[in-house]
Amino acid sequence: MSFSRDVKNEICRAKPAKSCDALAECYGILLYCNTFSSSEARIITENEKLAERVTALFGECFGVEFDDTRLPESGKRSLIITDKRKLETVFGAFGLAPEDTVSHHINLGVLEEDCCRTAFLRGVFLAGGSVTDPVKSYHLELVTPHFNVWRETVTLLREMDFSPKQVSRGGNYIVYFKQSAAIEDFLTLVGASGCAMELMSAKIEKDMRNSVNRRVNCDTANVSKTVDAAAAHLDAIARLDMETLPEKLRETARLRLENPELSLTELAELFDPPVTKSGLNHRFRKLAELARD
Ligand SMILES: [Zn+2]
Repeated sequence: MSFSRDVKNEICRAKPAKSCDALAECYGILLYCNTFSSSEARIITENEKLAERVTALFGECFGVEFDDTRLPESGKRSLIITDKRKLETVFGAFGLAPEDTVSHHINLGVLEEDCCRTAFLRGVFLAGGSVTDPVKSYHLELVTPHFNVWRETVTLLREMDFSPKQVSRGGNYIVYFKQSAAIEDFLTLVGASGCAMELMSAKIEKDMRNSVNRRVNCDTANVSKTVDAAAAHLDAIARLDMETLPEKLRETARLRLENPELSLTELAELFDPPVTKSGLNHRFRKLAELARD
């Protein structure tokens, strides 16, 4: 089952609390569904729970029933209203008349309260939304065929502190989010807090894996630094006559020759009395200087 489907099923588990919200949700559904014109309203979905919800909401808000058919090839549900009087009722609920509506706008008069704006976005997501499985990537989009609705949705989301991106594709208009935090907030807002939590834990797991990888890369880098330093030390020592070296330097050269694999810190611990890492570093610089001369 897809993540989108999980989200929609979770949303469908709770009914709108108030009648203003039921109406606002229907509005979001209509503006983001397959067709909402003066001659037809058509909602096509493969999600049974969603079809049930939409049928119940439209009965409650407008007292209308859909012509409910199943598409033969895909088995999807097709919910259609073509009856003129039914369409007038639906349009009328949003202060519109079918014959006067050339292009749709979001009538903000219907969405004055915060609860109604939230419910509207829930309808928008149910009809025109999808979200990628967060294990793969972060992407949530809302697709409408209506240009003005697209732009006004962006404005509405900005007023609600979201920063959506927008793009048009093949005659459809898309609002989308790429940030996991924004997707999480959106899902929580529209009533899918369980799926938002799932997204959050997928992100934590991914971040943790990345930080482990970074750590491993970092360790590898340290190992190669150690190897390079030891190689330089051995190279210098090879060019020196051990017998002529002062005692401290001779001991340093000897311990290095015997322990070429150790880091400077580890090597410093072998001295008796012990030396510091920077003290040891100083001795190797001295050895390198002598080797150059
Ligand atoms: Zn409301």
